Amino acid sequence: MTTTPKNGTLAVVGTGPGAADLITPRARQCIEQADIVVGYKTYLDLVTDFIAPHQEVLSSAMMQEIERCRRALVLADEGKQVALVCGGDPGIYAMAGLVYELVKETSSSSRIEIIPGIAALNSCAAILGAPLMHDFAAISLSDLMTPWQVIEKRLQAVAMADFVTVLYNPKSKKRTTQIVRAREIMLEHRDAATPVGIVSGATRAHETVCLTSLADMLDEEIGMQTTVIIGNSATFISGDKMVTPRGYTAKYGLK
Ligand code: SAH
Repeated sequence: MTTTPKNGTLAVVGTGPGAADLITPRARQCIEQADIVVGYKTYLDLVTDFIAPHQEVLSSAMMQEIERCRRALVLADEGKQVALVCGGDPGIYAMAGLVYELVKETSSSSRIEIIPGIAALNSCAAILGAPLMHDFAAISLSDLMTPWQVIEKRLQAVAMADFVTVLYNPKSKKRTTQIVRAREIMLEHRDAATPVGIVSGATRAHETVCLTSLADMLDEEIGMQTTVIIGNSATFISGDKMVTPRGYTAKYGLK
């Protein structure tokens, strides 16, 4: 007699930037209803309140991303309801894409569900004011998997086209030169007074926020939990907020 494997569900869940009330109800429900919650320790720590004692937790401080996703998929293939948690949104520099790549490779027939989350660019923009009101681009400065020439080419393109630019993964202990080069490229096309917003640990206990300029941005603390938002040629600072005009006042006036 052959048994048909009973497939479960793998939900790739975005937990938002950190604050408990910025996780969506659907993400929270997915975590609460899972048989097993899988994730990097830092992100699991942010959702411990939603995990009941009977639920299994596979915390992977050391496990690499590929191994983590593979394990999550195997558990779903065994019939489990699995929640694989990622910070921010799971489809932005996180694990949603990797899961689909593995599904393709292993021909798993588990149901895959991507549960969106509030990305760092959303929470950081909200804290800074309204810097993403016009066309913007996100660029990760991590060259661990993307060749640096490709990143430079994209920086050149967005700098030239005057996109508001969100820099993810700007700097780590080992990667310190990328942010220096990114600023140089921006300065080839933008004024040194262009506003720059720097947010670290958005919505977490240790959140820090700084409004500065392209000229001075490197004087600020930038690390692994930092997102840098560089304004376009119209972005301005009003009080302690960074604003990119959408164009309403230019077209209609404010009266
Ligand atoms: N999936 C995440 C991004 C993961 S890449 C998302 O959607 O936001 C990791 C990078 O995200 C960090 O290096 C940093 O640039 C940014 N980041 C993540 N959480 C952040 C936070 N709370 N505050 C500021 N930046 C954050």
